[in-house]
Amino acid sequence: MQVKCNVCSIKLEKNEAVKFKGKYFHKECRRLKRIKKHINYVLTVKKNIKGSFAQIKGKINEHLGKHDYKYILFVLRKNINLNHIHGLVYFLDNENFKKEYNIYKSKKIKVKKEDMKIIESYIPQIKTKDNRKWGEIICYRSTQIQKQE
Ligand SMILES: [Zn+2]
Repeated sequence: MQVKCNVCSIKLEKNEAVKFKGKYFHKECRRLKRIKKHINYVLTVKKNIKGSFAQIKGKINEHLGKHDYKYILFVLRKNINLNHIHGLVYFLDNENFKKEYNIYKSKKIKVKKEDMKIIESYIPQIKTKDNRKWGEIICYRSTQIQKQE
């Protein structure tokens, strides 16, 4: 039997769907919905942002297309002076926040030495490999760890 996903409206097999409050979802759609809800909560309740519901929703969608949602939440946890939803783009584009986030993220990963590699960059980066979530290659210019070719 097929059901319709409550987020994207695409049909899927009932046994593959996630059911919540009587509605069916793709696992990924449900996850995305929760992420959006969470970001919306932080913006409106915690940060007391001004902006209409549609504006906030639109901005969340726009930024989720461009940034990792964890990065968005990371930036929102900073002591930033955000009065209006349109200001968010300014903070998300902040190079220092991006660098800080990459360092923060890289500290949470265990990496095998043979998977490390130096890439010419002043910004610490993480390259993903085999679609694994956080990637396995951490690239720091400063770490001085080099893969033996
Ligand atoms: Zn869906």
